Amino acid sequence: MPTPTVHPNFHNLPEKISGLANLAENLWWSWRPRARMLFKMLNRQAWKESGHNPDKMLRELSPEILSAAADNPDYLRHYNVVMSLFNSYMVRKENPLFNAELESASDTAAVAYFSAEYGLHRSLPFYAGGLGFLAGDFIKECSDLNIPVVAVGFMYPEGYLLQRIRDDGWQEHIDERFDREAAAISRVMTDKGRQLIFKVPLIDPPIHVAVWKIAVGTNALYLMDTDIEQNDPWNRTISARLYSGDLEQRLRQEIVLGIGGAEMLEKLGLHFRLIHLNEGHAAFALLERIRDYRLDGMSFDDAFTAVRDRTVFTTHTPVAAGHDVFPFYLMEKYFRSYWPDLGLDRNGFLQLGVHPQYPHQGFNMTVLALKASAFRNAVSRNHALVSRKMWQSLWPDKALADVPIDSITNGVHIPTWVEPKIKMLYDRYLGSTWRDNHDNPYIWELVEKIPDQELWQTHYWLKIKLIDAIRERCRKRWVSEHASPSILLAGGAMLDPSILTLGFARRFTTYKRADLILNDLPRIKRLLNDRWQPIQIIFAGKAHPADDPGKHILQKVFNACRDPQMGGRMAFVEDYGEQTAQVLLHGVDLWLNNPLPPMEACGTSGMKAALNGVPHLSILDGWWIEGYNGRNGWAFGDVSGESDRTGIDAGSIYQLLEDEIIPLYYDMSDDGFPKGWVRVMKEAIRSNAARFSARRMVKEYVQRYYVNAIKTL
Ligand SMILES: *Cc1c(COP(=O)(O)O)cnc(C)c1O
Repeated sequence: MPTPTVHPNFHNLPEKISGLANLAENLWWSWRPRARMLFKMLNRQAWKESGHNPDKMLRELSPEILSAAADNPDYLRHYNVVMSLFNSYMVRKENPLFNAELESASDTAAVAYFSAEYGLHRSLPFYAGGLGFLAGDFIKECSDLNIPVVAVGFMYPEGYLLQRIRDDGWQEHIDERFDREAAAISRVMTDKGRQLIFKVPLIDPPIHVAVWKIAVGTNALYLMDTDIEQNDPWNRTISARLYSGDLEQRLRQEIVLGIGGAEMLEKLGLHFRLIHLNEGHAAFALLERIRDYRLDGMSFDDAFTAVRDRTVFTTHTPVAAGHDVFPFYLMEKYFRSYWPDLGLDRNGFLQLGVHPQYPHQGFNMTVLALKASAFRNAVSRNHALVSRKMWQSLWPDKALADVPIDSITNGVHIPTWVEPKIKMLYDRYLGSTWRDNHDNPYIWELVEKIPDQELWQTHYWLKIKLIDAIRERCRKRWVSEHASPSILLAGGAMLDPSILTLGFARRFTTYKRADLILNDLPRIKRLLNDRWQPIQIIFAGKAHPADDPGKHILQKVFNACRDPQMGGRMAFVEDYGEQTAQVLLHGVDLWLNNPLPPMEACGTSGMKAALNGVPHLSILDGWWIEGYNGRNGWAFGDVSGESDRTGIDAGSIYQLLEDEIIPLYYDMSDDGFPKGWVRVMKEAIRSNAARFSARRMVKEYVQRYYVNAIKTL
């Protein structure tokens, strides 16, 4: 059995602080501010320049800096505290959630979690958006809750994309190769001292896959990489980047993710009790499990049932493009030699992925996942209603309300998304146990105890920090590239921290309607340019490289940002990712969300904002239908059945801004801060933090699905 670890070469680390090497190689540091501080204390500048990447930083720091730290008693004190926290965290504890059912050998995980993307940290660009962050937050929380999970995904050597906006507002992307050697990621080695490489079963000509590992607390994420010399060029690029636009390459990606992923776990000697598919991309993993059981002599039907009873499938979107459908001829090309092993003929095999309503469309991955899983869920209550409609034809004898798709609403990993200064307020006022019990809503009642002024000042400080960071980016581009003034202006050079600031940041895909607020230009100009009570808006987000309509929306928004008539009060911040999200989500005053209902299955950025006291101004869709209580933010868009709702929705935003939001924000008390606004901030935290935490979410998965799936063993 291969040894799934390799120790990095930090030869330069003095003995007294040699534990930093272990710390750097486990992402635990990323969600513990004290651990982050330990790296930052070594050298602030180097920390910043490394992009908060301790692995890279430790490799580059001079021996003098490191030995100075090793000789500094203050540093050592801090080091000892962090190392002892880390070491005790890493001891796997019994998990009361599973009762005794999961007492398992150390090579057995409860769950094999499959996802095409993971959003874990800025230094690991293996995500496109919300789906990835959900997966990342999920496995972090499983580690915090001592739920043994082994996660499977891809190493994308070309990352997602580095965004650059051209002078005319068109998005371009720069290829920046991911440096595998300078991140918290390690090769999985075999006994012979070489990297583990395996072949994807039954694919001819063969696809070779190299295996990497990321330690996420007590759990591990194994990543597959096809960019190795054993592969021909076409195979090498299978894992080049997320969601290939080429249909056949996309199918090959999903074959590697599902079938290769299952094979990888086998090669690693890792056993697991159940499979959790985060979206349908990895559904072929279920076929590979069935094939395994067949090799043990089971009939197809028995094998299918055995797999189904131990599979959880989470569907994430009502958007058609989110559900892959592959033409039958491609399925034949790749699976002709596979289906006999399943004990199926061509027709029996293809039927596994046929949508009864659209039988000629092709092989639908979501259909396969829905058929071959016993536990199926959507990611919010409303999304479950929508999903039942979408997939009702798979259960023709069931009434709509009985279509077996449940809901577990998404949540966010609180230690990752709470801003450290805000966290210090919670440490001070929520009692010493809030961190361990942060999914308990009663804990958050104590938000009342935070003095209004203290919350406001903390928020205001974060807002200044955000605007400073944006201006500094502009300054750098001015100096290094002589960027034109209008580009710098669009980049936010004129932002002003005293103005009510809206944030809108997410993927630029048409249904998210980033340009909605530009619908009535005279009206938005009036709001931006108001002499006494202006607003400003900060945008960020990327369009998928193949999504021209998304790029057109981005161009429209960007061009508005540099239109002098917008008063320098609209800004577009390039290259939205985890890092930008962290500063934006904490620093703006109001988080804007206006997708076209019912397309936003859940949405999570608004949860991250609320956790930090940034209220949501959102259409009633996704999680906000559950989250909005009339006092914790603002809601609009209750206009079902309208065919063209653009004007209506935009009008609702302007009206809420004019009538309620702007007056409330600028209504300063005698001591110089907006009391009414702080009320809404507190209510946003109090009512949302526990309910939309990843802890609440993971516990639901465990209690409603995992425990029951394991019982069938
Ligand atoms: C949370 C997050 C998302 C998902 O946000 P949505 O509101 O669901 O669109 C996307 N990108 C980044 C960087 C995030 O942090």
